[in-house]
Amino acid sequence: MTVNIILLGPPGAGKGTQARILTETRGMVQLSTGDMLRDAQASGSEMGKRVAEVMAKGQLVTDEIVIGLIREKLSEGGTGFIFDGFPRTLAQADALGALMEETGQTIDAAIELRVNDDVLVDRIVGRAEQARAAGQPVRADDNAESLKTRLMAYYKQTSPMIGYYHAKGLLRAVDGLGEIDAVAAEIAAILD
Ligand code: AMP
Repeated sequence: MTVNIILLGPPGAGKGTQARILTETRGMVQLSTGDMLRDAQASGSEMGKRVAEVMAKGQLVTDEIVIGLIREKLSEGGTGFIFDGFPRTLAQADALGALMEETGQTIDAAIELRVNDDVLVDRIVGRAEQARAAGQPVRADDNAESLKTRLMAYYKQTSPMIGYYHAKGLLRAVDGLGEIDAVAAEIAAILD
């Protein structure tokens, strides 16, 4: 059965890691607005330049920009989507609902990766150190100062998504503190 899901959770909760596992194990399609925005920056596009500073600070870019990116991807067709890092505001959640309806699709589950804040700092600092060691670029927003802003943005703007999808009967929660494989198994159990 093909399903479309949303991964919810603060920065460092493991959304990207779990999304990648789902693409590998189930051939699902990861739609990460963060990746799309970083690609736009790397390509040097006007939009990429406009969002760079906002992203580096850890603030959210405008709803209009990210909804536009998702609209474009959905219009390319396909299914089995993992929305990773989207929606992050109520306006985005409403827009996603409308876009899915327009394309005759549904959101089947919003999976919350539950973690506590203490691990997030360690994971994000760890991610930056790993990238550095591997000679890969370190994300401009993977530093203590931006992380504070990103966490605040999560609690103020994105955490209401949990209630939103709960009210729609779509919310499922998994323990995001476990080992990567254990979290993946919990998610698989929800999807099967
Ligand atoms: P992420 O890779 O999901 O951690 O996103 C990195 C950064 O991209 C965020 O801190 C925001 O600045 C921006 N961003 C990604 N997705 C969204 C979104 N859905 N709405 C607004 N800003 C976003």
